Amino acid sequence: ESLDKGLEKSKESFFGKLGKAVAGKTKVDDDVLDDLEEVLIGSDVGVATTIKIIERIEARVARDKYLGTEELNRILREEIAGLLSETNSGIEEELDTIAKQKPYVMMVVGVNGVGKTTTIGKLANQLKRQGKKVVLGAGDTFRAAAIDQLQVWADRVDIPIVKQKMGSDPASVAYDTLQSGVAMDADVIIIDTAGRLHNKVNLMNELGKVKRVMQKVIPDSPHEVLLVLDGSTGQNAFEQAKQFTAATEVTSLAVTKLDGTAKGGVVIGISDQFQIPVKYIGVGEGIEDLQVFNKMEFVDSFFK
Ligand code: GDP
Repeated sequence: ESLDKGLEKSKESFFGKLGKAVAGKTKVDDDVLDDLEEVLIGSDVGVATTIKIIERIEARVARDKYLGTEELNRILREEIAGLLSETNSGIEEELDTIAKQKPYVMMVVGVNGVGKTTTIGKLANQLKRQGKKVVLGAGDTFRAAAIDQLQVWADRVDIPIVKQKMGSDPASVAYDTLQSGVAMDADVIIIDTAGRLHNKVNLMNELGKVKRVMQKVIPDSPHEVLLVLDGSTGQNAFEQAKQFTAATEVTSLAVTKLDGTAKGGVVIGISDQFQIPVKYIGVGEGIEDLQVFNKMEFVDSFFK
């Protein structure tokens, strides 16, 4: 229900138009395919992924050209869902993943303003509510505001935070956080990192150092590197995904602000292009507005 509400804008335009492109059609001809292509590209799915979707539909409908709207809808849904990947289909599965490592260490990356801090706060809240002991690490030491913001969330969720003063070494904060987390018997440790995209080599060195230092405390950490992207920024989000995946191994995605955009298609394009599963989607500013991404639910919500 909240998913439907959070994706309202995208429903009205993106998939709403998709639905219209096929409504009443009993045959997949060039007009229908052109309309679909236009809608997909206009919704920030991206050109490469759009072409893939169109080709797959063509390949499937070539066999039996005449079909009803419902069937065409179903094929569209299946092909789109087929390009998406999720890490866990829901919170229960996610808790299973987390339970396999103790502490489970997440490193969160992304540029300033995408909603990184908010996502960490919402996530910490969800995990705490599920009975997990969560510790935060304020690894974005380049901005005083980043440390303060994370502190606000730590207070709000009522969980411990490890921080140092602005300008200190992010790797040192990560090291302290992991040590404290182990000492506190934490289930989950979430480390924030600096969101500066100055250049690839610097980003690589910075994140690489944080990782190496973490591994001095917990050898196989981080267990997850979550990249946060703002879903309302279209091509910028693609570009950021490109830069971060080149700089470090990104294992999952959080796509935020989907409530504020009519272009939910960006989720499909990025997941497909970078072959990284989407783990969370942000659908509002409130503490509850983060969902474990379920691809069938996501796709289906547009075709209701
Ligand atoms: P950071 O600089 O990446 O840490 O970004 P913040 O977490 O401070 O978020 C930047 C702004 O985006 C804040 O005003 C947040 O409330 C807002 N924000 C974050 N996630 C979402 C979301 O899913 N939906 C909406 N509408 N706003 C969001």
